[in-house]
Amino acid sequence: MADHTEHPEHSHLSDTDLRVRALESLLTEKGLVDGEALNAIVDTYENKVGPRNGARVVARAWVDSEYRAWLLRDGTAAIDSLGYASTQGADIVVLENTAEVHNMTVCTLCSCYPWPVLGLPPALYKSFPYRSRAVKDPRGVLREFGQDIPEDVEVRVWDSTSEVRYLVLPERPAGTEGLDEEALAELVTRNSMIGTDRLKGNNG
Ligand code: FE
Repeated sequence: MADHTEHPEHSHLSDTDLRVRALESLLTEKGLVDGEALNAIVDTYENKVGPRNGARVVARAWVDSEYRAWLLRDGTAAIDSLGYASTQGADIVVLENTAEVHNMTVCTLCSCYPWPVLGLPPALYKSFPYRSRAVKDPRGVLREFGQDIPEDVEVRVWDSTSEVRYLVLPERPAGTEGLDEEALAELVTRNSMIGTDRLKGNNG
């Protein structure tokens, strides 16, 4: 997958998706794979392994201003330096959230996503309602995620492509001055790096 051209907007499932589903049904029917085990593997890559890489990149940027500058200037190289090399041939552009700007990412056509730092795209990112509304009504979408972005904060939406994927660098929460890099990484949620979530500090 990963290329827009393979995913026309009107088609819900690609040829590859259909083939994978057929294989999964057949293997399950023959008792060769366990559906629960498959779900567990997908969950691991959507929620655990993948986004932890991104969380380490974010935590490094929070504690090391030189790394942060490099990350914002050349995301692909700075991420590669931590061992999360791109195997997709796509560049990763890092978007910095500030008190004035909130960034949110989407792939309006399919599900282009920064795999090296976030793993597999979650269901929300692939869902049609998210893809269709993120650009038209980003504040409404954010409200549904429990994020009421103040009117004086500019919301920027970035549409991914097969060549450029985005990673949001969330703001470091208030009250975390005493935490080390590892503890900071624990605070970083997957959705904060997609931009549908904002991190809350210890002070609320
Ligand atoms: Fe896409």
